[in-house]
Amino acid sequence: MASVALFAGRDDQREVYRTHLTGSAAAAGVEIELHMDPAEVDPATVEFLIYAPNGPVQDFTPYTGLTAILSLWAGVEKILTLDLPADVPLVRMVDEGMTLGMMDYVTGHVLRHHLDIDRHIDATPTEEWETGEPPLARERTVGVLGLGALGGACAQRLALNGFRVIGWSGSPKDVPGVECRTGEAALDETIAEAEILVLLLPWTPDTYHILNARRIALMPIDACLINAARGQLIDHEALHEALHSELLRHATMDVFEVEPLPPDDPYWTHPRVTVTPHIASVTRPETAARALIAQIARHQRGEPFEHVVDRARGY
Ligand code: NAP
Repeated sequence: MASVALFAGRDDQREVYRTHLTGSAAAAGVEIELHMDPAEVDPATVEFLIYAPNGPVQDFTPYTGLTAILSLWAGVEKILTLDLPADVPLVRMVDEGMTLGMMDYVTGHVLRHHLDIDRHIDATPTEEWETGEPPLARERTVGVLGLGALGGACAQRLALNGFRVIGWSGSPKDVPGVECRTGEAALDETIAEAEILVLLLPWTPDTYHILNARRIALMPIDACLINAARGQLIDHEALHEALHSELLRHATMDVFEVEPLPPDDPYWTHPRVTVTPHIASVTRPETAARALIAQIARHQRGEPFEHVVDRARGY
């Protein structure tokens, strides 16, 4: 029997998702009755709610027959503040396009800092060539905090690029080419060793300001920071201080506590900061649709969902 699914993402994405969800379901042999407008379906009959907080559904109470809420977003902290039905699994978005996009963003910015590309772009005419022996990737240590769907993939890609990569996560991991660590002491050690530090942790009560003043002070002189996760991971006052004191070389930041970043925020004009507008990676309708249909297919085959959010942990 066809599973009843309602797309409740952004209105302007209805048509593109209709195309890709229908196409993916047909390709996978998954029977779905797909609705794109909450007004056109009896909410009590909806089994799969394909959901984003910036979509049309804010009240879950009429959706009494849900099998799962399938989030269009990878970060779920905002969804977890809503009044969700307690017994319905919340499944977060893990999709190939998002992972590949994050790998590109992180690799690009790591290589930029590794090669010190900015120095050459900003070079002024000189009679003397300032030559030297730039370090090889294998002589450069990159730390990746968070080894989940995104952090794990980025860490592995960086290792393939030749970097010495140290990864840190809550539970032990085995990522090819990556030195994987867990525990409080290992967090400090990783931060202290990383010449380039990449943040890919979720924002939870445990990770709020995890990069605090004490840990920022552990970063090697001239280290670079890349935050592609959430602005709330960093104590920004402490980071400003470290950048101002020229202890850190550069911070590339894609995410902020307030978004869009207000025009008068000093990060916009800081010479040691690169601001990108939360584009490190996005949910791409084509690959996201395949991931959503794969979850519905798993349920139809009697298999458990993948990437179910642990609401107690907050990710
Ligand atoms: P994920 O698969 O849930 O992985 C999270 C990782 O962080 C896991 O390795 C987890 O450890 C670790 N972790 C969580 N809390 C921890 C703690 N207190 N101590 C130690 N490790 C902890 O998440 P993901 O898909 O990789 O995404 C990561 C984050 O990226 C998302 O939450 C979202 O905020 C952000 N994001 C940003 C963009 C963007 O465009 N900027 C796009 C997508 C996602 P365990 O493995 O032990 O659970």
